[in-house]
Amino acid sequence: MKTIIILGGGVGGIITANELSNRLNGEHKIILIEKYKEHTFAPSYLWLMNGDRRKKQINVPLKSLMKKNIEVVNALANEIVPAEQKVKAGEKEYHYDFLVIALGADLAPEKIQGWDESIHTFYTCEGAVKLNETLKDFAGGKVAIVIASMPYKCPGAPHEGAMLIEDFFASKGIRKKVGIDLFTPEPQPLPVAGPELGSAVKAILDKKGIRFHPLMQLSSVDTKSKQLLFNGKVPFEYDLLIVIPPHQSPAVIRNSDLANANGWIDVNTASLQTKYENVFAIGDITSIPLPGRWVPDKPMMLPKAGVFAHIQADVVAKNIVKKISGENAREKFCADGYCMLEAGEDLAGFAYGDFFGVPHPQIHLKKIGKKWHIGKVLFEKWWLSPIGIKKLFYKNLLQFQY
Ligand SMILES: Cc1cc2nc3c(=O)[nH]c(=O)nc-3n(C[C@H](O)[C@H](O)[C@H](O)COP(=O)(O)OP(=O)(O)OC[C@H]3O[C@@H](n4cnc5c(N)ncnc54)[C@H](O)[C@@H]3O)c2cc1C
Repeated sequence: MKTIIILGGGVGGIITANELSNRLNGEHKIILIEKYKEHTFAPSYLWLMNGDRRKKQINVPLKSLMKKNIEVVNALANEIVPAEQKVKAGEKEYHYDFLVIALGADLAPEKIQGWDESIHTFYTCEGAVKLNETLKDFAGGKVAIVIASMPYKCPGAPHEGAMLIEDFFASKGIRKKVGIDLFTPEPQPLPVAGPELGSAVKAILDKKGIRFHPLMQLSSVDTKSKQLLFNGKVPFEYDLLIVIPPHQSPAVIRNSDLANANGWIDVNTASLQTKYENVFAIGDITSIPLPGRWVPDKPMMLPKAGVFAHIQADVVAKNIVKKISGENAREKFCADGYCMLEAGEDLAGFAYGDFFGVPHPQIHLKKIGKKWHIGKVLFEKWWLSPIGIKKLFYKNLLQFQY
């Protein structure tokens, strides 16, 4: 009997564990270690922010999403020792034959110089709830949305957030009293998705009167005078500040020799195996270069997105099963990604294509429409359904569409 340990019960961890359970028929031990008892669906934070969802609608017990024969351990993983094939979580040690690391990315707002509690974010559940209250009371003024640094999860989300905020104030009848400015250190919207999608998103932002400011690296915030300071640029005064905080890998990885110089985990792009045999990493914790893409002197990385965590989980689960049965592990990750891009007014676009495309990713945007918004809502419902009734849903139709 083999033991497979999965660290992290988010998108990648849930899919890996359930796929393994589907294929191993209870003959091997599957342990999933996750620090929280509840699972929250991050793409819905945007709807929490604009009031379309309540917190309890997007939080479910993690166990309700897991197949019965998976052992779910509610503990903080605090050490990984590949040489001894063991991990420590809470006070206990667990030995594995296969390890899948799906620990995601942590937020580190404290890395912003001048950070304090007056600064908002819709990148956490609590942050989105708090921002909703503030938006309801906001009577007009300058709203600044700032991407503090790269990498960050879901390259579409800051732009979706800006568009939903625009729609929120339009519905409230005060759009003319609100300025919305989106700042990013990047040269265009979603550079990881290539020039076609960037231009399309910029055109939508322009149409909605959302001012897009590229190449703006935030250096500090002065919350007393409400000023944003960017390297070598004119300061910007705001009334309401919303930040996409810096991201970092969880401490257990930063303190291990699995971390590269930036703290993320390098993997074999096809198999997702780390430098250790039978230790895999998937999702936001990984660092996967896009072929031939540079920013400007270092490689551009595959975006941190649930759709990739999901596909990678599938690849790794299938390969582990093959390895256990002594067959060739031939599944390979290919970076065909999808995203429904919320645009306000219950409309969304559908971006899709090959993120490994050369000379740059070939991502196209289908015309904005109601059906993509409905698709995103249906996916959310499917994702959060208990495992027992999930199968009855439209799994085949929607499984890779976020
Ligand atoms: C506002 C927002 C909107 C988004 N929209 C989209 C979208 O539309 N489409 C899309 O594809 N992606 C979207 N994403 C990104 C998506 O949510 C992530 O890319 C995805 O969740 C990554 O999956 P993961 O398994 O790598 O990490 P996660 O889902 O973050 O899971 C990591 C898990 O590890 C746990 N963990 C961390 N450290 C420890 C530890 N030491 N011990 C035990 N457990 C630990 C965490 O609690 C977490 O449950 C969005 C993200 C945000 C914030």
